[in-house]
Amino acid sequence: MDIAWLTAVALVIACVILLVRYRLTAAENRSLYADIRELRDAKQGLEDQLAEKQRLRSALTETMIDPVFFVDAARIITFCNSAAKLLSKGIAESGRSLMESVRSYELDSIVDEAMRGQHDLPREITVNQRLYYVRLSVLAQAGVQTGAVLILRDISELQRLGRARRDFVANISHELRTPLTAIRLLVDTLRFSVDAAPDQRAHYLDQISTQVDTLTQLAQEMYDLSLIESGQVPMRMVSSSLSELANRVMERLKPQAERAGITLENHIPVDVNVLVDPDQISRVLSNLLHNAIKFTPDGRIRIFTVDRQPPSSSRLPGHDIAAQEDYITVAVQDTGVGIARSDLPRIFERFYKVSRARGHGGTGLGLAIAKHIVEAHGGHIWAESQEGQGATFYLTVPREEQ
Ligand code: ADP
Repeated sequence: MDIAWLTAVALVIACVILLVRYRLTAAENRSLYADIRELRDAKQGLEDQLAEKQRLRSALTETMIDPVFFVDAARIITFCNSAAKLLSKGIAESGRSLMESVRSYELDSIVDEAMRGQHDLPREITVNQRLYYVRLSVLAQAGVQTGAVLILRDISELQRLGRARRDFVANISHELRTPLTAIRLLVDTLRFSVDAAPDQRAHYLDQISTQVDTLTQLAQEMYDLSLIESGQVPMRMVSSSLSELANRVMERLKPQAERAGITLENHIPVDVNVLVDPDQISRVLSNLLHNAIKFTPDGRIRIFTVDRQPPSSSRLPGHDIAAQEDYITVAVQDTGVGIARSDLPRIFERFYKVSRARGHGGTGLGLAIAKHIVEAHGGHIWAESQEGQGATFYLTVPREEQ
């Protein structure tokens, strides 16, 4: 064999080897590319799933009015909803610490301790003067704490209602105890004074009757107040002459005023018409005039219309001054003992009595009832006074459009 022949054979063998290797590499590459594609698809699928879960979490938590925080093991926020942002005054966001966002050491340490396995934790915290109940769930993976989810429920209103209910019960029992004790005493006195003169016994019986009247009035006013408060007393608005309404109420109270040496004056112009429930507004005027008579040793009580707007403290949320243009302000003014500045903001509360010790009777519900009735008409009621210099009660009622 000559050299040329050998070289040719070697070249052919080399080419065959190269071809076989090329084929093999191409096949390997194809399967590699297929693997890469598969991996890429799987990654995209996982990313889509993650994005979907995040969208779902976001949608779920955004429908909640409770602030929700997701934090990692270092208590850095990984997610929070709009309510959480609101609670933190816009500071809370992913990447910020819980402490920096909510500025509550209590909350931060509750989360810290919960993640360290502590179970018996305080659950109520105060943030920005509101009380929150903390619901917390620790997140873990393969036995390692990776973070926590917290939901903060604002329980301030619940707490206020609980306190109001306790106060209400305490007030009722106080109001019941006074006449009941008096009746008990009078009954015992009667029982042990069998020899007492008939007029003496009649006197005791009169006193018992007065106390029973007080109890009956209390029960009735409590019932009325609860009906008005729960909106179960519909206001039947009728065009009415304000002056005539006041006259009728004054006629009824005239004997009581005369006995106390007080004159009643109605200065409401006869052409003023209002759109009110006449029975309910008469009740308001009656409560105000009745109080005025009770707390005026002598002098006069005047009722008149006046150009005056309610102070902001008496306004209901959403009721602005413009809306009050359709209202007329009525004043009931007396020359009596007046009300101390510190008591003025509280006299419309149920059972609030400035003068328990003065023994004027009364349940402390009259003004609370008046306030509810006036507000059910969209109006306002408030008082101005200086102790010792009489009091003026104002109320606004809807005008009848001409
Ligand atoms: P009461 O049944 O005790 O009169 P109200 O709710 O009508 O209850 O009044 C609450 C309190 O407001 C009264 O106990 C009294 O201390 C005070 N008050 C109301 N009207 C007057 C007034 N015209 N002058 C002085 N104090 C008043």
